[in-house]
Amino acid sequence: MTIQTIPTISELRQALERQRAAGKSVGFVPTMGALHAGHASLMEVASKETDLVVASIFVNPLQFSATEDLGSYPRDLETDTALAEAAGVGLLFAPSTDEMYPEGAVLTSVDVAEISQRWEGASRPTHFSGVATVVAKLLSIVGPCVAYFGEKDFQQLAVIRRMVSDLSIPATIRGCPIVREADGLAMSSRNIYLEQDERIAAVVLRKALDLGIEAATNGESSAKAIGDLMANTISAEPLAKLNYAAAVDTATLEEVEQLVGDVRLLVAAQVGRPHLIDNASVPTMKEGAVS
Ligand code: AMP
Repeated sequence: MTIQTIPTISELRQALERQRAAGKSVGFVPTMGALHAGHASLMEVASKETDLVVASIFVNPLQFSATEDLGSYPRDLETDTALAEAAGVGLLFAPSTDEMYPEGAVLTSVDVAEISQRWEGASRPTHFSGVATVVAKLLSIVGPCVAYFGEKDFQQLAVIRRMVSDLSIPATIRGCPIVREADGLAMSSRNIYLEQDERIAAVVLRKALDLGIEAATNGESSAKAIGDLMANTISAEPLAKLNYAAAVDTATLEEVEQLVGDVRLLVAAQVGRPHLIDNASVPTMKEGAVS
């Protein structure tokens, strides 16, 4: 199927109406462009699971603070279109900022309390409300059966899951595994900002997670011990500035005390210009097994 690029909400709705009338199920992959194999993996899963894949490319001003890289965020619609087409996307929604926010200022925003304030939210207090607002708007425009998000942005996924549950938005949210470079660095559109030595140093995030998993596998059940181990690993890398390292509940993202139940390891560090994040699942004990 040849990809069709659509710049307006009304044209997209018309195109989708025709597809739905023909009985097609719709999968949706929202992105900010600068597409890489991580984005492609979401599109490929979507095209296996649904009849028509819609992807969006929109660099959403609401989720950037005044000091962040909104103006310089990488943009290349031609290359992105080719990657999306190869990954099975049928409709590519690429609206302008005016199309998405015709009134300029946005008076209505979606705030997912608590989950949004932790970790990434501590240093970016308006970020997740910008994400939740645009994702709510995109889900309302596209109306997909299933929307696909990467576990790479684990806190974002938790915020969206909670928003969809709280607001009874009729879409299934599907988290997809992190796609990594050969040396373990999680793929990110912002990795292009890394200088050569920083690129090598950036692998320390994956290394910290691996050491955390290894300790848990060897029986360590204290979340603090695992967090400290990951933090010390990142702090030992001169080019990395630790932001946080913790073991958290997968739904609330609250820090846990013991590795029991559904726990995720989160790490974040500044390496040169970019702020890098990574995460991994970790083996835990069954509820009641820890004394
Ligand atoms: P972004 O364009 O950065 O907003 O990302 C769009 C979607 O792609 C989000 O759901 C991300 O979590 C996902 N994504 C970004 N990088 C990766 C990756 N390395 N592996 C899997 N998913 C990713």
